[in-house]
Amino acid sequence: MSQHPHDQISAVGAIVGARCPRCGKTPLFKGLLTFADSCPSCKLDYKFLDTGDGPAVFAIMILGAVVLGGALWFEFRFNPPVWQHVVLWGVVTPLLAIALLRLLKSGLAVLQYKNRAEEGRLAKD
Ligand SMILES: [Zn+2]
Repeated sequence: MSQHPHDQISAVGAIVGARCPRCGKTPLFKGLLTFADSCPSCKLDYKFLDTGDGPAVFAIMILGAVVLGGALWFEFRFNPPVWQHVVLWGVVTPLLAIALLRLLKSGLAVLQYKNRAEEGRLAKD
């Protein structure tokens, strides 16, 4: 697989740092979970990035297991009152969800770029 001459960052580096998949110099996101329009450094247009529901599905499955396991451990280890569960998991769950969604969204977008994933076609246009 030939690489673009501006490819200067590994997939793992771009995913973990949420950086441009081509040059790695600028952030991939312009907000918390919104992709930027393009890379100001290498001019890569991000319009082709489409992660769909993938990050949300993985986040729901991973976070569901982690939070449920944590809540069960917390309950049986400390036997806290219910309000402590509500406060703890009410704060921890959204923070973990945002962090995990950023990582997964960045991961799928970078892998889409690195593997040149696109819709299948029967013939070249
Ligand atoms: Zn770039």
